[in-house]
Amino acid sequence: MCGIIGKAGIGEVMPELIKGLEMLEYRGYDSAGIAVIHNEKITRCRESGKIINLREKSENNREELTGNVGIGHTRWATHGKPTVENAHPHISNNKKFALVHNGIIENAEEIKKALLTSEEFYSQTDTEVAVKLISKFYKTDVISAVKTACKELTGTFAFGILCSDFPDKIFATAQGSPLVAVKGATGCWITSDLGAINEKSGEFYRIANGEICEISKDSILFYNSEGEEIKKSPERVSLTEETVNKGGYEHFMLKEIFEQPFAIKKTVLSFADKNSIKLENVNIPDEFFKDKLERIIITACGSAYHTGLIGKHVIEKLCKIPVNVEIASEFRYSEPLINENTLTVFISQSGETADTLAALRLCKKYNAKTLSIVNVKSSIIAKESDNVIFTYAGKEIAVATTKAFSAQLVSLYALAIFIAEKRETISNQKKQKLLNELLSLPDKINTTLLKTTDKAKALSKKIYKSTDIFFIGRLYDYGTACEGSLKMKEISYINSQSYASGELKHGTISLIENGTPVIAIGSNTEVFSKTASNIAEVKARGAKVFLVTDESEKDASVFVDDIIYVPSTTPEFQSSLLVIPLQLLSYYTAKRLERDIDKPKNLAKSVTVE
Ligand code: GLU
Repeated sequence: MCGIIGKAGIGEVMPELIKGLEMLEYRGYDSAGIAVIHNEKITRCRESGKIINLREKSENNREELTGNVGIGHTRWATHGKPTVENAHPHISNNKKFALVHNGIIENAEEIKKALLTSEEFYSQTDTEVAVKLISKFYKTDVISAVKTACKELTGTFAFGILCSDFPDKIFATAQGSPLVAVKGATGCWITSDLGAINEKSGEFYRIANGEICEISKDSILFYNSEGEEIKKSPERVSLTEETVNKGGYEHFMLKEIFEQPFAIKKTVLSFADKNSIKLENVNIPDEFFKDKLERIIITACGSAYHTGLIGKHVIEKLCKIPVNVEIASEFRYSEPLINENTLTVFISQSGETADTLAALRLCKKYNAKTLSIVNVKSSIIAKESDNVIFTYAGKEIAVATTKAFSAQLVSLYALAIFIAEKRETISNQKKQKLLNELLSLPDKINTTLLKTTDKAKALSKKIYKSTDIFFIGRLYDYGTACEGSLKMKEISYINSQSYASGELKHGTISLIENGTPVIAIGSNTEVFSKTASNIAEVKARGAKVFLVTDESEKDASVFVDDIIYVPSTTPEFQSSLLVIPLQLLSYYTAKRLERDIDKPKNLAKSVTVE
């Protein structure tokens, strides 16, 4: 994960690096550091914890950190504790090189052993071997040293490198980790995320596997993995900064929860009108859906995986085609039984989730049709997929996703209607009803927010002291339960588990004790009565049951301890409303516990390591 930034430009670079790191902080916040070159000398400044700590330290050492060329890093630790010693940049023993790294070097220990005879190591990171190795191979040519060193490294990495012999340059390379080089008006940059650089527009280049780039204030040169210069064509971006402020909310998470009506409206209107679904970046012939499609595989991680669990039922019901949902980190190492008649769907907010990207590349090898659902247009997953549905959630800052999750969910509904129409598996009347409901979801989400916020707040008071919370649901509601439970544990740190309602009695029910909170999700489907029986089973064992259901379930209050109602919609789309009070519940529970809601411990937003 982590964020890398670097700039060779005009003007003092330190403030630009710090500002960039603040924008990248969502990618990891275990520690941060910068290194600046001045008068052929590299000076670095590192701190553990949030960027604010680094900002303070750098500002106190402003004079030493003067210079126009520098690199910065925000770390999400994979090897070694989040201490100052392990913070990047790491430097070579002769202090000629400084290096920041995103990713994991898998053979670091092996290389370290070999280097130990000549080099001292000061950190527990895998990263330090890279800077020592480059320094070892360096005579007068950095490109050649980087090339030779990278050939010895296995794993995934993106490096930003300074060499004091070339005080006006930054060198960079990538192998399976995202990094881009940008030519802007005030200089040239490397960055993990275009949103981090202080430019209005620019030309950007993705650094492809094995490529090395050499950046100075007005040029970006590229070399292939053999060190030969290559020409690359830039892509253009407008980098007008989206306003990233809390807009009066106490946390980004709450702001983003309340942005859902707009995010969903924008997303839905990008593909739906009263009559049909148009997916403008999906170019699969109609005959494929009608005659060839044999199965669909949805691959994702975390919350995006939960949208898949819900989407599976929607697609199977509407399209009459089997759907499997796979965890990307598992799927990428499997030997999938797929072929050119399989549609594989990849869901990732950032569009750079390493496991999902690897799964996409695997499916391409099998000639499966690929389609991704991503929020970041310029992302690598969007670029490498044959077909894309873009979500319009806007920039999501809180680590725990809310609006991006909801936008992914409605995109899966759209995909289901789109495929069902091609396969002629829904009637016109049903399609019309679904489209109407899809278009009315933004308003219904708004009503849900208005109606359930106080209820969720009150319920959080009843559960925040619990050590364990269970979330249960069946079919569509199971995916919703998984998401509610994940939200709860990731930001409140309360141990929470999600179960398919009927599965509790096969073991987990032994964990239910007097007063254990069970949040049951029960939308009005034909299986509600079954969930009701499962609720009765846990109540009989002392659980306190809180039901989240839709307004058509009028009589439910008689058998639960409390109930939160959301507006009704068609059963296929009900999850989009049921999830809202669950997001709010986790938010208010974490708030009572005074957790760091936007940046929960040990997490990072964009997971670009395995
Ligand atoms: N593996 C490196 C470390 O633990 C880099 C992790 C990252 O991508 O932030 O320091």
